[in-house]
Amino acid sequence: MRLLLMGPPGAGKGTQSAALAARFDIPAIATGDIFRAQVAAQTPLGITAQGYMDRGEYVADEVTNAMVAVRLAEPDCADGFLLDGYPRTVEQVAELDTMLATADSTLDSVVVLTVDTDELVGRLLRRAEIEGRADDTEPVIRRRQEVYAEQTAPLVELYDARSLVREVDGTGTVEEIGARIDEVLSRPVV
Ligand code: ADP
Repeated sequence: MRLLLMGPPGAGKGTQSAALAARFDIPAIATGDIFRAQVAAQTPLGITAQGYMDRGEYVADEVTNAMVAVRLAEPDCADGFLLDGYPRTVEQVAELDTMLATADSTLDSVVVLTVDTDELVGRLLRRAEIEGRADDTEPVIRRRQEVYAEQTAPLVELYDARSLVREVDGTGTVEEIGARIDEVLSRPVV
């Protein structure tokens, strides 16, 4: 199973991806988590990424693409993976297409979590109080929503043209949303 999990910041991708990856026995790969680990370790990649992340902007495509290519080449991805937070730009879609073609594989589904913007901002402000993530301040949260709308939302149409998209209502309890995801993945796209 090769899956993408998409949705705006605060949609609950991280929460759902762990459970989903466990159910399919595939690794969950979250580019945001990898960048945060690199920032924490102050590696050259982390130092490059940090400036973008603090502003709520996307890390440059060539940096992100190279990082994902390395990760997807690891043996645990050979039989499937769940990508959370990648691709986020049209350029990243093209790069992922190339990586998949090189490995002679294709995507099975793109799950898109939908939640309205006011609810998203509220969730991220609450998360800020609990986790204290550097990019969870109100101006940066709003910027991340804008960047998503401008650069990533158009990807849904692009994947829909390939009949891969399954939209899932991202409001409700974690269990309800998980059950909806299972349901859409258990039936073929029409
Ligand atoms: P969120 O979706 O809540 O903003 P993430 O943890 O997925 O949080 O990502 C945090 C930050 O990491 C993003 O704002 C961006 O700077 C960087 N990032 C993550 N994934 C990508 C990507 N595919 N392309 C570019 N930058 C990314």
